[in-house]
Amino acid sequence: MVQAGIRTGRVVFHSGLLGTVATAFALDLVWPILLLLGVETVRVSPGDTAFTHLAFDAYPWSHSLLTVAGWSVLAGILGRTLFDSRRAGVVLGGLVLSHWGLDFVTHRPDLPLWPGGYLVGLGLWNSIPGTILVEAGLLVAGIAAYRSATSARDRMGTAALIGLVAVTVAIWISQPGVPLPQSVRAVAVGASALWLLPAWATWIERHRRVREGAE
Ligand SMILES: [Zn+2]
Repeated sequence: MVQAGIRTGRVVFHSGLLGTVATAFALDLVWPILLLLGVETVRVSPGDTAFTHLAFDAYPWSHSLLTVAGWSVLAGILGRTLFDSRRAGVVLGGLVLSHWGLDFVTHRPDLPLWPGGYLVGLGLWNSIPGTILVEAGLLVAGIAAYRSATSARDRMGTAALIGLVAVTVAIWISQPGVPLPQSVRAVAVGASALWLLPAWATWIERHRRVREGAE
């Protein structure tokens, strides 16, 4: 969810939009790789919830609370080392954890607390209007925070950001209506496209600057 990546924009931008997007999406970046390796499994299941046609049968390494806590600590250490900043470590580690928190709200009870453990999820995706209301709200707040913390250096700084928002919104909003993927492999390959987002974030970052006083 892109909103997870940019909703804390003011603080987050100091850790770099690349780091922000990469950590907010980290679990979903690892997931398709684990699917392709056969370590985790998903099933195409029309109407699994109103918002997605995927049944997340097993994703203990990428999406259990226990392992995510571990990934979060790792990201925190990495962030602190790379940016030489305690705050960057806290923010980036926190973003990895926030992904699980937001998935907990949206998924039906399919998120394990630990590998093979109790499954939880509040199931917001059972309601399309509810999903759109909550997720769009987070997205708008995230964009506002990010824009208040940064300004464009040039026209590309605005265009690249609008492009990212437009593409992610189009992918997000069309989810309930897209044709069903023909295989798990197609799901994994499609989800691998998320790897473009950190690259896009780098492109945006080159054309924007932190606003004066946005500390
Ligand atoms: Zn996820």
